[in-house]
Amino acid sequence: MKLGLEGRHALVCASSRGLGRACAESLAAEGVNLTLLARGRDTLEETAEHIRRTYGVLVHAVVADITTPAGRAAALAAHPAPDILVNNAGGPKPGHFQDWDRDTWIAALDANMLAPIEMIRATLDGMVARRFGRIVNITSSAVKAPIDILGLSNGARSGLTGFVAGIARKNVAHNVTINNLLPGPFETDRLLETARQWAKDNGQPEAEVLARRRAANPAGRFGQPQEFGDACAFLCSAQAGFITAQNLLLDGGSYPGTF
Ligand code: NAP
Repeated sequence: MKLGLEGRHALVCASSRGLGRACAESLAAEGVNLTLLARGRDTLEETAEHIRRTYGVLVHAVVADITTPAGRAAALAAHPAPDILVNNAGGPKPGHFQDWDRDTWIAALDANMLAPIEMIRATLDGMVARRFGRIVNITSSAVKAPIDILGLSNGARSGLTGFVAGIARKNVAHNVTINNLLPGPFETDRLLETARQWAKDNGQPEAEVLARRRAANPAGRFGQPQEFGDACAFLCSAQAGFITAQNLLLDGGSYPGTF
């Protein structure tokens, strides 16, 4: 199925690696031009060059921290009127809530709630005026099934989810949709680094830890970033104009509920 996106422009935040990069690649495969953004220059430029060479689309790479006003301004200066916005940032570190003071919470809210809201605020009206817009927020399965050691993520992302539920029905009549994608375990640097650290802290072989985690998923494996990227591209498609305000869980069936 062609997704009707050729020549559109997407701003994909936090996209030099992992799930953000996968969204960018799936959109590029559909002929979407891109603005990519990350803090580390080298990986970002390698990713941008790979996408240019592989898909023949225009790619603008912006070295910036999306959690800061200056970073968001740099992203929007590169392309102030994207047709597609994919909101993403690094996730908060695990820990115990008694150790998190106000500053820790503010940092988590900045990254996983306020940055995406600010990006929506900056781009939504233009999408409405142009009668096309697709906004996808990368959140987490933790929004549906909280993970105790990821309290900062549970809290900040739930705030974003509630906000999106409130506005996502307001603009769909203008062909602008807002949806959230909720990843379960996807095989990215973040997942592998977290597992490596856990194995080290608990004196267990990394390979065994990873094997146990794969086996614990009903699919018997981790998700692959491309599966996530392709779901994102579909939500951004011309065909998806009747899908808004949804929280789509991609977790291999881990979440045990009926709904
Ligand atoms: P990843 O492999 O660590 O990749 C993160 C990407 O975001 C990198 O390109 C990184 O580049 C960029 N980035 C991080 N913080 C940034 C910032 N402040 N400003 C700009 N760019 C930033 O992570 P991932 O696994 O793709 O995860 C993406 C999101 O999904 C995270 O919020 C994560 O918590 C969430 N998530 C992931 C999983 C999973 O299984 N993978 C599950 C649930 C939720 P730089 O470091 O160079 O900036």
